[in-house]
Amino acid sequence: MNILIMGPAGSGKGTMSEKILELYDIPHISTGDMLRENVRNNTELGIKAKEYMDAGHLVPDDVINAMVEKRLQEPDCEKGYLLDGYPRTLVQAETFAEISDRVQKPIEAVIALEVGFEELEKRITGRRICPKCGAIYHVNGHMGNKYGYCDVCGTELVQRRDDTVEQLKVRMDEYEASTKPVIDYYSGKGLVHKIDASVPADEVFAQVKEVLGKVA
Ligand SMILES: [Zn+2]
Repeated sequence: MNILIMGPAGSGKGTMSEKILELYDIPHISTGDMLRENVRNNTELGIKAKEYMDAGHLVPDDVINAMVEKRLQEPDCEKGYLLDGYPRTLVQAETFAEISDRVQKPIEAVIALEVGFEELEKRITGRRICPKCGAIYHVNGHMGNKYGYCDVCGTELVQRRDDTVEQLKVRMDEYEASTKPVIDYYSGKGLVHKIDASVPADEVFAQVKEVLGKVA
């Protein structure tokens, strides 16, 4: 199964991705991980990408696209893939259509996780993190065995500076502006499945399984 997953920060995309990967036994392909791996392994594309990153520039599309094309041809993609964070623009989506046709692995389903603003606000403004080890807590959930302190390392929990309503609004506007053309593009191909991700994770996954079951 060849899947693209989309969803704003706080939509539970990470959790859903893990469950989908397990269900279909496919690899997770995110451009961030792919870039880091190519740079670490000093591949030809990694060396090229590093030049841009070192100069403080974004890695251009043609480098990213070439990495994705190579990645899709690795043996672990035989049963499919889960794309995450790419394509993120209309131009990338159009180019990816050519790439994935060339390697005969076109996207079969786009999972678009949707969460209303109020629910996202609850999830994000209630989040607390450990500034030392990065563990995540929530005021409506677990706040440490000793309230307000990290279970792992004992450090006092804090709210991340950008986990505020104002920053959430900015991020949501950006997310919607950038993803809308991509969603519209795949909607035109009849591939988009909008999922209500404001419910608990197991209910979200039940919806995901149902729509993917109809595709497979
Ligand atoms: Zn900690």
